[in-house]
Amino acid sequence: MTFVSVGVLALQGDFREHAAALERLGAETTLVRTVADLMSIDALVIPGGESTTIGKLADWNGLVGPLRQRIGEGLPTMGTCAGMIFLAGATAERSDQVQLGVLDVVVRRNAFGRQVDSFEAEISVDGLSDPVHGVFIRAPWIEKIGDGVDVLAEVEGHPVLVRQGSIIATSFHPELTGDARLHTLLLDMVREG
Ligand code: GLN
Repeated sequence: MTFVSVGVLALQGDFREHAAALERLGAETTLVRTVADLMSIDALVIPGGESTTIGKLADWNGLVGPLRQRIGEGLPTMGTCAGMIFLAGATAERSDQVQLGVLDVVVRRNAFGRQVDSFEAEISVDGLSDPVHGVFIRAPWIEKIGDGVDVLAEVEGHPVLVRQGSIIATSFHPELTGDARLHTLLLDMVREG
């Protein structure tokens, strides 16, 4: 099997859970904190956490330009929750938070309501035969999508899993359930070149 080195952006959030999920699949992982780390990897995961903090820390570490460049050049990338927000072009709230703008969507943060803001749901996903158990924690949904973006799953009529070329983005947290299918999809993207 081809040796695959997957970077997990490790500025803030639940990057350790993603690294563990990838290692269970036999991938080598690198915690990405510098430009040099970013240059050494074959795929990237941007974890959940707090997207404003991830954006600030990426900016302070000089990672914003290099991330835009590598992801824009086709580095297979998966963003979950805050990671999806960071990949997107804008938020519906028009904040001035740092975003990469490599995924052609507008997201709404904390979209599922503030009182009962965390929930779990069975989600049917295009291309997967059995539903995915989605864990949503103060999750965003996608409010607008660009032409090149495919919606793979929705909740209440709002996209929560999308793919645009080599980028996958989810509102929920596949790293918390032991279901490896989305991480496997990322590794397959590397192996398919
Ligand atoms: N609400 C967070 C944000 O806006 C995302 C939450 C999460 O990643 N679980 O960045």
